[in-house]
Amino acid sequence: MPITGIYGPDDFTDRPQGHPSTSSRAAPARTGAALPMPSLQWTDEVERATAPLYERVKHVIPSIEWPLMAPTIHAINKLKRERNAVIVAHNYQAPEIFHGVADIGGDSLQLAVEATKVKADIIVQCGVHFMAETSKLLNPDKTVLIPDTRAGCSLAASITGADVRLLRQKFPGVPVVAYVNTSAEVKAEVDICCTSSNAVQVVESLNAPTVIFLPDRYLATYVASKTDVKIIAWKGACEVHERFTGDELRAFRDADPSVQIIAHPECPPDVLAEADFTGSTAHMINWVRAKRPKRLVMITECSMADNVRAELPDVEMLRPCNLCPHMKRITLSNILESLLTLGEEVTIDPALAERARRSVERMMNLKN
Ligand code: SF4
Repeated sequence: MPITGIYGPDDFTDRPQGHPSTSSRAAPARTGAALPMPSLQWTDEVERATAPLYERVKHVIPSIEWPLMAPTIHAINKLKRERNAVIVAHNYQAPEIFHGVADIGGDSLQLAVEATKVKADIIVQCGVHFMAETSKLLNPDKTVLIPDTRAGCSLAASITGADVRLLRQKFPGVPVVAYVNTSAEVKAEVDICCTSSNAVQVVESLNAPTVIFLPDRYLATYVASKTDVKIIAWKGACEVHERFTGDELRAFRDADPSVQIIAHPECPPDVLAEADFTGSTAHMINWVRAKRPKRLVMITECSMADNVRAELPDVEMLRPCNLCPHMKRITLSNILESLLTLGEEVTIDPALAERARRSVERMMNLKN
């Protein structure tokens, strides 16, 4: 059914001014912790050590570019062992990061959950800020670093904890579900979190006739189309996925009727109406592995198509490509810098973290 109502900052005249988009702070690098910059020359040793990595990305990184990247990749991989660090990278990170230096790759929740299973002291989060916060929530005893604290997210920035409190005043007793793409401050105010993989299941688990679902209006619309629960949405959107259009997809289909189109549920409804499959990044990847389409249009951030193609070179990617400027703030250079200086460390107020963690853990404890 259509969403029941949609609200945003303009609907609350008593909304507090100012808009903190993150609820954690970056601690400065620790004094005395910095290590000297290693040599970044293209040497025989670097070529030998990185050859197996190049094998993994040779279909998406031209050989002429590899000698420029490989010395930094080699330095990062040595340094992470010295620091007892693990590097986690979101599916939207560039192939030289995702396949070159990451120990764990996946969607935001997979990254945080997998990081709880490793013995490392340090987690370097190659993703955006809310992901680093989620990693910190689930790994409170580990040092979580983000190479660039400016790596934000239009969804996380669209809503504050105060906004959630105003929604609760307007709709007393209505449970609130937050997509994981929110700050820890927002997670602390809601009943439960969800991902794009389990959003419908989470909404229905509450056994309520109406649920407030935030902050993505398009994911809310998608969820509403799959359930009888009435959905009240928030006016947030992903600036990458909302730019795709149904016309764009129809043009691909007209040019080649055999093409397969898969899309992320953060896309507008007219885009999803054209897709052969709709799913989270993890579900999309599994779909491609299982179906092995000959020609594929993957409607999500560009780098994910590169990362999938590196693994499955037989799948030809046709790409209406939108980059996430926030994800692209993470580079090999600032990952190296982060490991050298141990900055920027993500810290969250312990009382707030406990409430936020509860919302994430409630979701994780749901039976499949
Ligand atoms: S792709 Fe969209 S949802 Fe993901 S980090 Fe970028 S702006 Fe946020």
